[in-house]
Amino acid sequence: MAIKDQPQPPRFRQISNVLLLLSSLFLLANIFLPNLFGPQIPQVPYSLFVHQIQEQDVVRASVGQNEIRYQLKGEGDKPGQVLSTTPIFDLDLPKLLQEKGVEFAATPPSKNGWIGSVLSWVIPPLIFVAIFQFFMNRGGGGPQGALSIGKSKAKVYVEGESAKITFADVAGVEEAKTELVEVVEFLKTPDKFTAIGARIPKGVLLVGPPGTGKTLLAKAVAGEAGVPFFSISGSEFVELFVGVGSARVRDLFEQAKKQAPCIIFIDELDAIGKSRSTGGMYGGNDEREQTLNQLLTEMDGFAAGNTTVIVLAATNRPESLDAALLRPGRFDRQVLVDRPDLSGREAILNIHSQTVKLGPDIDLKAIATRTPGFSGADLANLVNEAALLAARNKRLAVAQEDFLEAFERVVAGLEKKSRVLNEKEKKIVAYHEVGHAMVGAAMTGGGEVAKISIIPRGMAALGYTLQVPTEDRFLLDESELRGQIATLLGGRSAEEVVFGSITTGASNDLQKATDLAERMVTTYGMSKVLGPLAYDRSQQSFLGDGMGNARRAVSAQTAEAIDQEVKEIVETAHKQALDILKENRELLETITSKLLETEVIEGEKLHDFLTQVKPVDKVSAVV
Ligand code: ADP
Ligand code: MG
Ligand code: ZN
Repeated sequence: MAIKDQPQPPRFRQISNVLLLLSSLFLLANIFLPNLFGPQIPQVPYSLFVHQIQEQDVVRASVGQNEIRYQLKGEGDKPGQVLSTTPIFDLDLPKLLQEKGVEFAATPPSKNGWIGSVLSWVIPPLIFVAIFQFFMNRGGGGPQGALSIGKSKAKVYVEGESAKITFADVAGVEEAKTELVEVVEFLKTPDKFTAIGARIPKGVLLVGPPGTGKTLLAKAVAGEAGVPFFSISGSEFVELFVGVGSARVRDLFEQAKKQAPCIIFIDELDAIGKSRSTGGMYGGNDEREQTLNQLLTEMDGFAAGNTTVIVLAATNRPESLDAALLRPGRFDRQVLVDRPDLSGREAILNIHSQTVKLGPDIDLKAIATRTPGFSGADLANLVNEAALLAARNKRLAVAQEDFLEAFERVVAGLEKKSRVLNEKEKKIVAYHEVGHAMVGAAMTGGGEVAKISIIPRGMAALGYTLQVPTEDRFLLDESELRGQIATLLGGRSAEEVVFGSITTGASNDLQKATDLAERMVTTYGMSKVLGPLAYDRSQQSFLGDGMGNARRAVSAQTAEAIDQEVKEIVETAHKQALDILKENRELLETITSKLLETEVIEGEKLHDFLTQVKPVDKVSAVV
């Protein structure tokens, strides 16, 4: 597909631009080069003029309001030089001229005067227009100017000019694809549906986290359907000038209706579709509301005719959309474009590694297993990172090793060999990471510990423990969450067990552990004291009060109870971690000294170590 711009602006606008330019030049020339259109006459001071009269050098003078021109006496046959001066208010001048016998007259009004006065009326407004246009062009982008602010800037994808995106380029979102295949059917053979009286849906909303392929899917629909595809981003409707957005919406639908059957794709719909009730403390945004209203009107508008225009839209914040957009007859179909599952990730990796050379040892399935929660865009990025690493290592094909390193780069950041730790710090980091690993191995819920490393990485990590899930999990139970919290606290606990003191290195762990515990209490209703109530509101931001209060209004006692519960969960997990490490103290020492020696432990070796971790009796877990 290729992107084509709007049709060129009408011819007369180009002509008017040329005229504008010429007249501005003329004006500038008049200001800065007043004598451009006449002979050059030397300017002299008024005092010299008077002196020359007194010396009787002047033959004749022509006295105007702004200029006096005069001619000196010539020598022999040659006519004298013509000079000019600027008059001052001098009532004695006529008398003086007469006395010295100079022939003089007042300058007749200039014959060109009317041009000057017309220009002085015409040019300033033209300059205004020019400035206005300049800003319009900048704001509007592209070749359109003042006369087309209200034109939509939708790009039209035209088929067949370059590589087409089809459904084959999208993987891991099978349900969404099934829905959209149907949309393509509507566009290709609307009669099949209208014949039995079915109403063709007008709006399809693609909902999902960023990078899951919503934009890609919309392009694929266009590629498959072979109809014109108008693509515009929600933010492009909203501009500096009030009323522009709604004019653009109107224009977009007008164009689309002319080209039906076709698709309109509005990316990032939330930019205009935000709920009108959540103005928050700043009041509503009139311009956005008008644009939204226009969109609603247009979507109702083409119900009447039998035009097949389907509006696709994408958003990653469906909860913030105005309810009016979601009602039947508008975006009544919502298609969830979710993060891919295991097989989906493998398929996406497959698609994106088609263009890179893969070595014989590549196991994309193993990589897919390691990457739950990755979106399509993350996976595409991973493949590219791996290819870059292979190139840097001067390999001819990408090896599995490159993928694993790329994965670590993505989750933990770049290796920072330059960040040199002293011996003591290194030791602390090693115990800390082994602590995470051992608690992680003893508890369920966190997946398998795959690697421990004390090579610094990324912005903050001095060392890290890589825990990879063995399967995709959609539900976690309470004990698994508690296990995760204990694992997070494992690092700090190891420091406590070994050194009896704590360093600053654990702050990020504590943050995560506390967040998780708070969610257990306020969102998942896992606290026996507080019961199955949702105290947290951040998940449903349209109910928020617009002032950033994420919690339901609760009594002081409840707030205290929540804090108490969160604290209890974290402390229990802490105690569990301490118990595990104390119980396995010798193993902690063994693994740590090995880690200090090799800096990295992974694979078989690590597995052997961690299977030796003795779980602690449940008894101690109950406080
Ligand atoms: P969104 O619009 O949902 O934020 P995009 O469609 O812009 O995400 O995805 C960005 C890029 O990520 C795509 O161009 C594509 O290369 C890759 N990608 C995302 N999802 C998928 C998918 N499901 N299948 C294949 N590639 C994908
Ligand atoms: Mg997008
Ligand atoms: Zn840690």
